[in-house]
Amino acid sequence: MAFELTVLGAGTIVPQARGGPAGYAVRAVERKEYMLWDCGPGTVRQLGAAGLSLVDLDAVVLSHFHPDHCLDLWALAFALRNPELRRARAGRTLQLLGPVGLRELVERGAALYGERGWTRFEQVTIHEVDPARMGGEAEAAGFRLQHWPTWHTPQAVCWRATDPSGATLAYSGDSGPEGELVACARGADLFVCECSFADDAAVEHHLTPTSAARIAAEAQVKELVLTHFYPSLDPGAAAQVAGRTFAGSIRCARELQRLVR
Ligand SMILES: [Zn+2]
Ligand SMILES: [Zn+2]
Repeated sequence: MAFELTVLGAGTIVPQARGGPAGYAVRAVERKEYMLWDCGPGTVRQLGAAGLSLVDLDAVVLSHFHPDHCLDLWALAFALRNPELRRARAGRTLQLLGPVGLRELVERGAALYGERGWTRFEQVTIHEVDPARMGGEAEAAGFRLQHWPTWHTPQAVCWRATDPSGATLAYSGDSGPEGELVACARGADLFVCECSFADDAAVEHHLTPTSAARIAAEAQVKELVLTHFYPSLDPGAAAQVAGRTFAGSIRCARELQRLVR
Protein backbone atom coordinates (compact mmCIF):
# COMPACT_ATOMS: atom_id res chain seq x y z
CA MET A 1 0.00 0.00 0.00
CA ALA A 2 1.64 3.21 -1.16
CA PHE A 3 -0.89 5.76 -2.33
CA GLU A 4 -4.59 6.47 -2.28
CA LEU A 5 -6.61 8.16 -5.00
CA THR A 6 -10.11 9.42 -4.22
CA VAL A 7 -12.39 10.19 -7.15
CA LEU A 8 -14.21 13.47 -6.57
CA GLY A 9 -15.58 13.91 -10.08
CA ALA A 10 -15.77 11.27 -12.82
CA GLY A 11 -17.94 13.25 -15.23
CA THR A 12 -17.76 16.51 -17.16
CA ILE A 13 -19.38 19.94 -17.11
CA VAL A 14 -22.62 18.56 -18.58
CA PRO A 15 -24.92 17.76 -15.63
CA GLN A 16 -25.66 14.09 -14.97
CA ALA A 17 -26.71 12.10 -11.93
CA ARG A 18 -23.65 9.88 -11.83
CA GLY A 19 -20.91 12.47 -11.66
CA GLY A 20 -19.54 15.97 -11.86
CA PRO A 21 -16.46 17.65 -13.34
CA ALA A 22 -12.87 16.50 -12.92
CA GLY A 23 -11.31 16.31 -9.45
CA TYR A 24 -9.14 13.68 -7.70
CA ALA A 25 -7.46 13.70 -4.29
CA VAL A 26 -4.08 11.93 -4.16
CA ARG A 27 -2.27 11.04 -0.96
CA ALA A 28 0.72 8.92 -0.02
CA VAL A 29 -0.71 6.56 2.58
CA GLU A 30 1.87 7.30 5.25
CA ARG A 31 1.10 11.04 5.02
CA LYS A 32 -1.86 13.13 6.01
CA GLU A 33 -1.46 15.85 3.41
CA TYR A 34 -2.83 15.35 -0.08
CA MET A 35 -2.90 17.06 -3.44
CA LEU A 36 -5.80 17.70 -5.78
CA TRP A 37 -5.49 16.70 -9.41
CA ASP A 38 -7.73 19.17 -11.18
CA CYS A 39 -10.34 21.17 -9.43
CA GLY A 40 -13.54 21.34 -11.48
CA PRO A 41 -16.79 22.77 -10.10
CA GLY A 42 -17.99 20.70 -7.14
CA THR A 43 -14.53 19.49 -6.10
CA VAL A 44 -14.44 21.53 -2.88
CA ARG A 45 -17.90 20.31 -1.90
CA GLN A 46 -16.89 16.71 -2.61
CA LEU A 47 -13.91 16.97 -0.23
CA GLY A 48 -16.37 17.11 2.65
CA ALA A 49 -18.21 14.03 1.39
CA ALA A 50 -14.88 12.21 1.06
CA GLY A 51 -13.84 13.14 4.62
CA LEU A 52 -10.89 15.22 3.45
CA SER A 53 -10.11 18.47 5.26
CA LEU A 54 -8.76 21.60 3.62
CA VAL A 55 -6.32 21.77 6.54
CA ASP A 56 -4.37 18.95 4.89
CA LEU A 57 -4.43 20.24 1.32
CA ASP A 58 -0.83 20.61 0.15
CA ALA A 59 -1.15 21.32 -3.57
CA VAL A 60 -3.49 21.69 -6.53
CA VAL A 61 -2.12 20.25 -9.76
CA LEU A 62 -3.94 21.33 -12.93
CA SER A 63 -3.92 19.60 -16.30
CA HIS A 64 -5.31 22.55 -18.27
CA PHE A 65 -7.56 25.56 -17.89
CA HIS A 66 -10.94 24.40 -19.20
CA PRO A 67 -13.56 25.33 -16.59
CA ASP A 68 -14.50 21.70 -15.89
CA HIS A 69 -10.93 21.20 -14.60
CA CYS A 70 -10.19 24.41 -12.70
CA LEU A 71 -13.24 26.48 -11.84
CA ASP A 72 -13.25 25.50 -8.15
CA LEU A 73 -9.92 27.28 -7.67
CA TRP A 74 -12.02 30.32 -6.74
CA ALA A 75 -14.24 28.33 -4.37
CA LEU A 76 -11.04 27.06 -2.80
CA ALA A 77 -9.48 30.52 -2.45
CA PHE A 78 -12.64 31.76 -0.74
CA ALA A 79 -12.92 28.69 1.52
CA LEU A 80 -9.31 29.12 2.68
CA ARG A 81 -10.18 32.62 3.95
CA ASN A 82 -12.46 31.06 6.54
CA PRO A 83 -11.06 32.16 9.94
CA GLU A 84 -10.95 28.64 11.41
CA LEU A 85 -9.17 27.23 8.37
CA ARG A 86 -6.79 30.18 8.38
CA ARG A 87 -5.84 29.42 11.98
CA ALA A 88 -5.52 25.69 11.36
CA ARG A 89 -3.31 26.26 8.32
CA ALA A 90 -1.19 28.99 9.91
CA GLY A 91 2.25 29.00 8.29
CA ARG A 92 1.27 26.49 5.60
CA THR A 93 1.59 27.42 1.97
CA LEU A 94 -0.60 25.98 -0.75
CA GLN A 95 1.23 25.04 -3.95
CA LEU A 96 -0.51 25.57 -7.26
CA LEU A 97 1.01 23.70 -10.19
CA GLY A 98 -0.10 23.82 -13.79
CA PRO A 99 0.84 24.80 -17.32
CA VAL A 100 2.23 28.17 -18.33
CA GLY A 101 -0.56 30.72 -17.90
CA LEU A 102 -1.48 29.57 -14.40
CA ARG A 103 -0.08 32.70 -12.77
CA GLU A 104 -2.14 34.94 -15.01
CA LEU A 105 -5.25 32.83 -14.39
CA VAL A 106 -4.77 33.08 -10.61
CA GLU A 107 -4.19 36.85 -10.80
CA ARG A 108 -7.28 37.38 -12.94
CA GLY A 109 -9.29 35.21 -10.57
CA ALA A 110 -8.10 37.31 -7.64
CA ALA A 111 -9.32 40.43 -9.42
CA LEU A 112 -12.83 39.00 -9.88
CA TYR A 113 -14.05 40.52 -6.61
CA GLY A 114 -11.98 43.70 -6.80
CA GLU A 115 -10.70 45.17 -3.55
CA ARG A 116 -12.58 42.69 -1.42
CA GLY A 117 -10.36 39.97 -2.86
CA TRP A 118 -12.56 37.06 -1.86
CA THR A 119 -10.98 34.92 -4.57
CA ARG A 120 -7.38 35.91 -3.77
CA PHE A 121 -5.14 33.13 -2.42
CA GLU A 122 -3.23 34.33 0.63
CA GLN A 123 -0.49 31.76 1.26
CA VAL A 124 0.34 30.38 -2.13
CA THR A 125 3.25 29.50 -4.39
CA ILE A 126 2.71 29.09 -8.12
CA HIS A 127 4.70 26.61 -10.15
CA GLU A 128 4.18 26.86 -13.90
CA VAL A 129 5.36 24.06 -16.15
CA ASP A 130 6.17 24.34 -19.83
CA PRO A 131 4.32 21.59 -21.75
CA ALA A 132 7.28 21.32 -24.14
CA ARG A 133 9.68 20.42 -21.31
CA MET A 134 8.65 16.77 -21.28
CA GLY A 135 9.40 14.81 -18.15
CA GLY A 136 10.12 18.03 -16.23
CA GLU A 137 10.07 17.51 -12.47
CA ALA A 138 8.33 19.06 -9.48
CA GLU A 139 7.29 17.89 -6.02
CA ALA A 140 4.01 17.95 -4.09
CA ALA A 141 2.52 16.08 -1.12
CA GLY A 142 5.57 13.80 -0.94
CA PHE A 143 5.34 12.74 -4.60
CA ARG A 144 7.76 13.43 -7.42
CA LEU A 145 5.74 14.90 -10.29
CA GLN A 146 6.49 14.88 -14.00
CA HIS A 147 4.49 16.22 -16.92
CA TRP A 148 4.11 15.73 -20.68
CA PRO A 149 1.98 17.58 -23.29
CA THR A 150 -1.31 15.98 -24.39
CA TRP A 151 -2.45 17.94 -27.49
CA HIS A 152 -5.89 18.60 -26.01
CA THR A 153 -5.12 22.33 -25.95
CA PRO A 154 -1.75 24.02 -26.58
CA GLN A 155 -1.19 24.22 -22.79
CA ALA A 156 -2.65 20.89 -21.67
CA VAL A 157 -0.41 18.45 -19.82
CA CYS A 158 -0.75 14.99 -18.31
CA TRP A 159 0.88 14.19 -14.96
CA ARG A 160 2.80 11.29 -13.48
CA ALA A 161 3.37 10.99 -9.73
CA THR A 162 5.88 8.68 -8.06
CA ASP A 163 5.82 8.13 -4.32
CA PRO A 164 8.91 7.34 -2.20
CA SER A 165 8.30 3.58 -2.53
CA GLY A 166 8.39 3.91 -6.34
CA ALA A 167 4.65 3.37 -6.88
CA THR A 168 3.41 5.38 -9.85
CA LEU A 169 0.17 7.01 -10.78
CA ALA A 170 -0.53 8.68 -14.14
CA TYR A 171 -3.36 11.05 -15.04
CA SER A 172 -4.27 11.98 -18.60
CA GLY A 173 -6.10 15.22 -17.87
CA ASP A 174 -7.94 15.78 -21.14
CA SER A 175 -6.13 14.36 -24.10
CA GLY A 176 -6.25 13.19 -27.67
CA PRO A 177 -5.10 10.02 -29.37
CA GLU A 178 -1.82 11.68 -30.40
CA GLY A 179 0.79 13.01 -28.00
CA GLU A 180 2.99 11.90 -25.17
CA LEU A 181 0.49 10.11 -22.96
CA VAL A 182 2.22 6.75 -23.47
CA ALA A 183 5.48 8.17 -22.07
CA CYS A 184 3.61 9.61 -19.10
CA ALA A 185 1.78 6.36 -18.32
CA ARG A 186 4.67 3.95 -19.00
CA GLY A 187 4.41 1.02 -16.55
CA ALA A 188 2.15 2.98 -14.15
CA ASP A 189 0.53 1.11 -11.27
CA LEU A 190 -2.63 3.12 -11.87
CA PHE A 191 -3.48 5.05 -15.03
CA VAL A 192 -6.46 7.39 -14.66
CA CYS A 193 -7.48 8.17 -18.22
CA GLU A 194 -10.20 10.29 -19.70
CA CYS A 195 -12.73 8.45 -21.85
CA SER A 196 -15.13 11.11 -23.05
CA PHE A 197 -17.07 9.65 -25.96
CA ALA A 198 -17.90 6.30 -27.56
CA ASP A 199 -15.71 5.10 -30.44
CA ASP A 200 -18.36 6.03 -33.02
CA ALA A 201 -18.62 9.57 -31.61
CA ALA A 202 -14.87 10.25 -31.44
CA VAL A 203 -13.58 13.84 -31.57
CA GLU A 204 -10.05 14.98 -32.25
CA HIS A 205 -9.20 16.29 -28.79
CA HIS A 206 -10.60 13.58 -26.51
CA LEU A 207 -10.23 9.84 -26.02
CA THR A 208 -12.65 6.98 -26.52
CA PRO A 209 -12.70 3.50 -24.90
CA THR A 210 -10.53 2.10 -27.70
CA SER A 211 -8.03 4.98 -27.91
CA ALA A 212 -7.65 5.05 -24.11
CA ALA A 213 -7.15 1.26 -24.07
CA ARG A 214 -4.58 1.48 -26.87
CA ILE A 215 -2.51 3.93 -24.83
CA ALA A 216 -2.83 1.74 -21.71
CA ALA A 217 -1.70 -1.32 -23.70
CA GLU A 218 1.25 0.45 -25.30
CA ALA A 219 2.33 1.91 -21.96
CA GLN A 220 1.87 -1.49 -20.27
CA VAL A 221 0.10 -0.01 -17.27
CA LYS A 222 -0.97 -2.32 -14.44
CA GLU A 223 -4.50 -0.95 -14.16
CA LEU A 224 -6.58 1.39 -16.31
CA VAL A 225 -9.19 3.60 -14.64
CA LEU A 226 -11.56 5.19 -17.17
CA THR A 227 -13.07 8.55 -16.23
CA HIS A 228 -14.42 11.90 -17.56
CA PHE A 229 -17.52 10.28 -19.05
CA TYR A 230 -19.96 12.47 -20.99
CA PRO A 231 -23.61 11.53 -20.37
CA SER A 232 -23.91 9.76 -23.74
CA LEU A 233 -21.25 7.20 -22.79
CA ASP A 234 -22.21 4.36 -20.48
CA PRO A 235 -19.18 3.51 -18.28
CA GLY A 236 -19.92 -0.24 -18.23
CA ALA A 237 -20.11 -0.36 -22.03
CA ALA A 238 -16.91 1.72 -22.25
CA ALA A 239 -15.03 -0.78 -20.05
CA GLN A 240 -16.26 -3.66 -22.18
CA VAL A 241 -15.06 -2.03 -25.39
CA ALA A 242 -11.71 -1.06 -23.81
CA GLY A 243 -11.25 -4.70 -22.77
CA ARG A 244 -10.96 -5.74 -26.41
CA THR A 245 -7.74 -3.72 -26.72
CA PHE A 246 -6.24 -3.70 -23.21
CA ALA A 247 -5.91 -7.08 -21.52
CA GLY A 248 -5.06 -5.76 -18.02
CA SER A 249 -7.41 -4.70 -15.25
CA ILE A 250 -9.95 -1.99 -16.18
CA ARG A 251 -12.19 -0.02 -13.86
CA CYS A 252 -14.60 2.86 -14.29
CA ALA A 253 -14.14 5.77 -11.90
CA ARG A 254 -17.09 6.38 -9.58
CA GLU A 255 -17.57 9.37 -7.33
CA LEU A 256 -16.09 8.96 -3.84
CA GLN A 257 -14.41 5.72 -4.85
CA ARG A 258 -11.03 5.18 -3.16
CA LEU A 259 -8.34 3.34 -5.05
CA VAL A 260 -5.39 2.19 -2.98
CA ARG A 261 -2.11 0.84 -4.40
ZN1 LIG B 1 -10.58 20.08 -21.55
ZN1 LIG C 1 -12.60 18.05 -19.46
